[in-house]
Amino acid sequence: MLNIVIFGAPGSGKGTQSERVAEKYGLNHISTGDVLRAEIKKGTELGKTAQQFIDFGQLIPDELMIDILSDVLDGLKDSRGVIFDGFPRTIKQAEELKEMLNMRGQEVTIMLDLDVPEEELIERLVNRGKKSGRADDNEETIRKRLDVYHQKTCPLIDWYKKNGKYEHIEGSGDLVKITDEICEVIEKKK
Ligand code: AMP
Repeated sequence: MLNIVIFGAPGSGKGTQSERVAEKYGLNHISTGDVLRAEIKKGTELGKTAQQFIDFGQLIPDELMIDILSDVLDGLKDSRGVIFDGFPRTIKQAEELKEMLNMRGQEVTIMLDLDVPEEELIERLVNRGKKSGRADDNEETIRKRLDVYHQKTCPLIDWYKKNGKYEHIEGSGDLVKITDEICEVIEKKK
């Protein structure tokens, strides 16, 4: 069972790389951002709540996010493993993920930190916003999301280092080369 946490700032390429890696290894790709956006589109109560946080670049509260993830995990069948994209984003979420996987006799195999310089992140996100129409890909919200990333999410780097799971990935440059580097690291840990 291969459980990969793909980590990085907004715009670091987590979604793109997750799709490529999930396909190569036959993993389920869970993007918590995609799960929330699907709820917003469906107009559910959960979607309405989520939107209030997403539009302001804030994180959805841990308890709610953990319940959502737990439901998604329960719905997986015959999984060869999961690539977690956008979860965990806080220490509390990382602790809960560890617990949830332990209860299933599993663990996080590896955490991949896609490292991209801040200026490049902003440029990528502003460009993405022009195409994707994502309401949170405007410069003001992008800056807020990056602040939240530094304050709440970055402490996970040390947390995963302490847990012996951390791997640094150079996240700028050629997309295919980045996937190759990721796969090399996975092969060593598998
Ligand atoms: P993403 O698509 O991963 O950039 O997520 C978009 C937005 O969804 C984030 O800015 C948060 O508001 C929310 N979100 C996604 N994943 C999480 C999470 N694990 N914890 C809290 N909020 C999240």
